[in-house]
Amino acid sequence: MIVEQIGPRKSSYGLDRNGLGNVGKAYWNLSTPALYRESLLRGEASLAAGGPLVALTGQHTGRSANDKFIVKEPGSEKNIWWGKVNKPIEADKFAGLHKKMCDYLSGKEVFVQDCYAGADANNRLRVRIITECAWHNLFARNMFIQPAPEELENFEPEFTILQVPSFEADPAVDGTRSEVFVLPNFAEKLVIIGGTSYAGEIKKSVFSILNYLLPEKNILPMHCSVNVSEEGNSSVFFGLSGTGKTTLSADASKMLIGDDEHGWSDDSVFNFEGGCYAKVINLSKEAEPEIYETTRRFGTVLENVVMDPDTGELDLEDNSLTENTRASYPIEFIPNASETGVAGFPTNVIMLTADAFGVLPPISKLTPEQAMYHFLSGYTAKLAGTEKGLGNEPQATFSTCFGAPFMPRHPAVYAKLLGEKIAKHGVNCWLVNTGWTGGEYGTGHRMPIGHTRALVNAALDGTLANAQTEKDPFFGLAMPTSCPGVPSDILNPRNTWADKEAYDTKAKDLVTRFIENFEQFTDYVEDDVLKSAPKIA
Ligand code: ATP
Ligand code: MN
Repeated sequence: MIVEQIGPRKSSYGLDRNGLGNVGKAYWNLSTPALYRESLLRGEASLAAGGPLVALTGQHTGRSANDKFIVKEPGSEKNIWWGKVNKPIEADKFAGLHKKMCDYLSGKEVFVQDCYAGADANNRLRVRIITECAWHNLFARNMFIQPAPEELENFEPEFTILQVPSFEADPAVDGTRSEVFVLPNFAEKLVIIGGTSYAGEIKKSVFSILNYLLPEKNILPMHCSVNVSEEGNSSVFFGLSGTGKTTLSADASKMLIGDDEHGWSDDSVFNFEGGCYAKVINLSKEAEPEIYETTRRFGTVLENVVMDPDTGELDLEDNSLTENTRASYPIEFIPNASETGVAGFPTNVIMLTADAFGVLPPISKLTPEQAMYHFLSGYTAKLAGTEKGLGNEPQATFSTCFGAPFMPRHPAVYAKLLGEKIAKHGVNCWLVNTGWTGGEYGTGHRMPIGHTRALVNAALDGTLANAQTEKDPFFGLAMPTSCPGVPSDILNPRNTWADKEAYDTKAKDLVTRFIENFEQFTDYVEDDVLKSAPKIA
């Protein structure tokens, strides 16, 4: 059966290739206005004042990390770091579920976007995103890179994402954990997603694929943002969710390359995406003006943001649906964003952490060994997160490479690439705590964004390179004793605590957690890295 294709630029490579020859209609590469029209007509989403499209995702307002399973198959099996994060599912279970999904879509309508993941033309991946809803298709259009019209005619995807939120798995039959499933299959070059409407699953599925594929090309895939200073120096900001990648990379004085996913090749650093996915809860017009503006314009997709149904006015403070409210928008919505998504090798690597224990210094200079240690540790403290099941209490998290859920290979693969690249390019490395100061969560307060920006800028422009430092006794981190625009007494976190003994106790507690967590990596690192580990002073 020939699928009826609607849309100006459809590919000759049809949906039957993914077992979807029976769908009723396929809306292909629709434009942003056309996707607005279809979402609104179907009642999928609402129009907000100023023009954003507001969609609600229902029960699932963050990633369902526990429902992701990688298909176990001979071609990739030995390359995967199997464990708590990368859990296997049998190929026949995948096949069964995929078949059921295709049957489910029989006669129904789907939306297709053909796009690139990877701004570097030599290293990009052709991906096809097939979604049940128009709004998810607009999300994909915002987040990935659009091929030129002539490139769409014979677009042959190298990977396909099939996302059908209203289709739920039956765990007893399908071998999933719940009705939700996110199943990458490296043999079929297909990811199937069901049971959840959270759009972030789509983008992070593509990220996981690139994280699997790129190391073979000597490219380090990174969960990081990147921007470039006026002098042309690129900076990489690694960090787990909520640590400030998006917030800190959007800076009027810098050119934005991307806010979340990049590759570091032998030629450049390049964005994987064509859009950003910013948290918008309590977004401050003063502290984050560039991101704030995106919430008031046509083309932005807002997820789980509460809106007055009569006036269409948004309430960015309302967390009644989730703390993880999001805006997805094309990167060009940020003034001074790069048109190419490609930058030179980084001069600085910044590792962001949001330490809710208030123990780590707001900024410190890392030796290459310490950088390796902190990269493999991937520490932050999660508050209300982007993953289901987290409450509002903080929780220490170690997520290796600052992105364990998206890294199919062993962390040593990524760490080795990073170590080589840092050494080769003589990169300066920093650890920045965007979390708590003046005490732990509950007593102290979050670091003002202005202070973090001033510290980061002083690191990037060279001011801190030769600054006087003192060493913190627990983590061995070199903390600058002064920095323009920032009160000196916050630079050593111990000084900000009223109760110094309480600080020491908390610091020791955190050191212990670091040491315990690192045991899994001791066989994979040089002695120098182990020597740079935190110690109970
Ligand atoms: P994700 O991987 O989920 O996209 P992210 O690393 O991009 O996460 P951001 O979206 O930048 O994280 O989130 C940082 C959040 O913390 C924002 O809501 C920001 O307003 C808030 N914030 C508060 N204080 C700071 C600070 N000092 N530095 C950075 N962000 C801060
Ligand atoms: Mn982000």
